[in-house]
Amino acid sequence: MCRLKRFDRSYKIIYNKELSLNYFELKINIAEDVANSCSPGQFFMVRVPGVFLPRPMSIYNVKGNSLGFLYKVVGNGTDILSKIRTGEIQLLGPLGKGYNLKTYENLNYVLVAGGTGIASIYFLAVRLKKQGTLYYGVCSEKDLLCLDNLEKLGWKIVVSTEDGSKGYKGYITDFLSNELKKNTDVVFVCGPTPMLKKILQIARRINVKGFVSLEEKMACGIGSCQGCAIKINGQIKMTCKDGPVFKIEDVEL
Ligand SMILES: Cc1cc2nc3c(=O)[nH]c(=O)nc-3n(C[C@H](O)[C@H](O)[C@H](O)COP(=O)(O)OP(=O)(O)OC[C@H]3O[C@@H](n4cnc5c(N)ncnc54)[C@H](O)[C@@H]3O)c2cc1C
Repeated sequence: MCRLKRFDRSYKIIYNKELSLNYFELKINIAEDVANSCSPGQFFMVRVPGVFLPRPMSIYNVKGNSLGFLYKVVGNGTDILSKIRTGEIQLLGPLGKGYNLKTYENLNYVLVAGGTGIASIYFLAVRLKKQGTLYYGVCSEKDLLCLDNLEKLGWKIVVSTEDGSKGYKGYITDFLSNELKKNTDVVFVCGPTPMLKKILQIARRINVKGFVSLEEKMACGIGSCQGCAIKINGQIKMTCKDGPVFKIEDVEL
């Protein structure tokens, strides 16, 4: 049986800084064995001091001995986390099954990110050998992150904002249906559940295969508590252990 390597350790914080209003990048010094075992779509459980349950965070980047998370302050846990500047933080991971890269290396793919879903999609964009188009939907211009880096990597970025402050006005899914038809073999998606639901409908209608990364609430991250149970291809699976990335055709949302 193949067992995934995972670590439960304290790591030194390199920095934890605000990138844009309420969005932070937490950079951590990790050991080489941990860095080498991280792949796009996987996540860590971050233990926030004084908060009972750890919080799941996607791997945003891995460079040498550093590991980055990109997060939005939405509640108590992320608020406390955002105020930590130095010291150590305890992480469990890398966890879960990420995007399947090898099988799809030579196909035409598009990436779709909604909100903080860009964290996992960014790491995927860095690791994919061939660049394509990345569709990125947010509420407003201030929520757009990593654009320069993605463009430097050679990705074409199509942006939509709900308030029209940048790019197309509306949801990214409003015009994705036409775009996906054009020469797309596979779509990789990470974002809020309403966006995922819409993409599942579109992908099934136009018969495009792909993968979605789910952001179910979870407590343990390793499949013990069964708090993130979800129906996949008619069977109950755990988002944390069996996912968070699943095939589009298997997901029932
Ligand atoms: C596999 C995975 C990867 C994730 N990666 C990232 C990431 O890279 N960056 C990032 O900013 N966030 C990410 N999240 C969401 C993040 O874990 C939650 O935003 C965080 O746990 C909220 O903690 P809190 O204590 O601040 O908020 P809480 O007080 O627990 O909740 C505040 C608000 O956030 C909502 N919320 C809580 N947990 C989740 C969740 N899992 N998904 C969606 N909404 C939630 C609640 O409904 C509530 O409205 C990820 C979630 C999962 C499951």
